[in-house]
Amino acid sequence: MERDSKPMTTALNSGNSASPEPPGGRPEISVVIPLYNEQENIQELHSRLGKVLGALHIPYEIVFVNDGSRDQTPALIDDLQATDPHLTVVHLSRNFGHQAAVNAGIDQALGRAVVVMDGDLQDPPEAIPHLLATWRSGWDVVYAVRKNRKEGPFKKLAYFGFYRILNAISDQNIPLDSGDFCLMDRRVVDTLKRLPERVRFVRGLRTFVGFRQTGYSYDREARAAGSPKYSFSALVRLAVDGLVSFSSYPLRLVTYFGIFTGMAALVLIGWVFYATIVGHNGPRGWASLAAIILTIGSAQLICLGIIGEYIRLIFLESKGRPTYIIGQYRPARSLPKNPEPHS
Ligand code: UDP
Ligand code: MG
Repeated sequence: MERDSKPMTTALNSGNSASPEPPGGRPEISVVIPLYNEQENIQELHSRLGKVLGALHIPYEIVFVNDGSRDQTPALIDDLQATDPHLTVVHLSRNFGHQAAVNAGIDQALGRAVVVMDGDLQDPPEAIPHLLATWRSGWDVVYAVRKNRKEGPFKKLAYFGFYRILNAISDQNIPLDSGDFCLMDRRVVDTLKRLPERVRFVRGLRTFVGFRQTGYSYDREARAAGSPKYSFSALVRLAVDGLVSFSSYPLRLVTYFGIFTGMAALVLIGWVFYATIVGHNGPRGWASLAAIILTIGSAQLICLGIIGEYIRLIFLESKGRPTYIIGQYRPARSLPKNPEPHS
């Protein structure tokens, strides 16, 4: 029997196709930047980006996502938009958090390649031509890897530990020390957009979708101005969401924990019997008993907490609320006819 020579196309790989060309055509590159109270950085960020992107002589778009800022950020980017035809401005209806803002920008970006970077100049705009050149040489994802960070020793150690634990236990091989700063090809972006998850850990999802990925090493600068917008608890939340979304290992840990404490209990019971029957000197006293109960009790609570994190994610996903809500969308004027915003 003759075999069908056509490549197999199934529902599983239908995510690889690029979305149709928008009516206004695509810029070669979109640069997506989430902004939350970044008034001190916007002017410099915009002028450095303009210099770097202008020198490339290609159609480009900058997508500023205002994540519910309470300072002058919204007014500043609206003013810039009046003078810069390359600037797309997305105002979210309130603060949804960094990852949600990045997703909002990725969803609105029209470029054939989409770059994601922070708005505090920790990710240098001057790296964009290198990301672009690597993409043009055939890579679908170019993720930036931090050679070193200019941050305090505690934060450095926490990041170092987090990326290594995540890499060790996650179901994907999430590259070490790579954050959200990256360039993605249009088909990667379209595939990302089709993933139905609401709690979106971008760097994990980016690894999940696959395609040809490579790293680009760079020196991560210190924040140019202003204070970090991630509170300590928000960073812990991001880390826990990342671990829980991309690994079921902590659940297995609960089982191992149970087996370990069960075996310890058996050894203890054996010892009590031995001491009572052979040595005629059975252990007495409530202090040791209380210590054992407390140990088992805290182990159980830790296990409940781990299971609780997974239930939280199921709960959030099952509600099906949007990751973000757009308050206002102002497309770049250099792109003649743009589609309505889609969230
Ligand atoms: N950011 C945001 N929403 C938030 C918190 C942060 O859009 O709720 C933006 C922030 O303006 C910056 C980027 O996310 O452009 C990274 O934030 P930050 O520099 O505080 O993070 P860190 O560098 O400390 O990880
Ligand atoms: Mg920063």
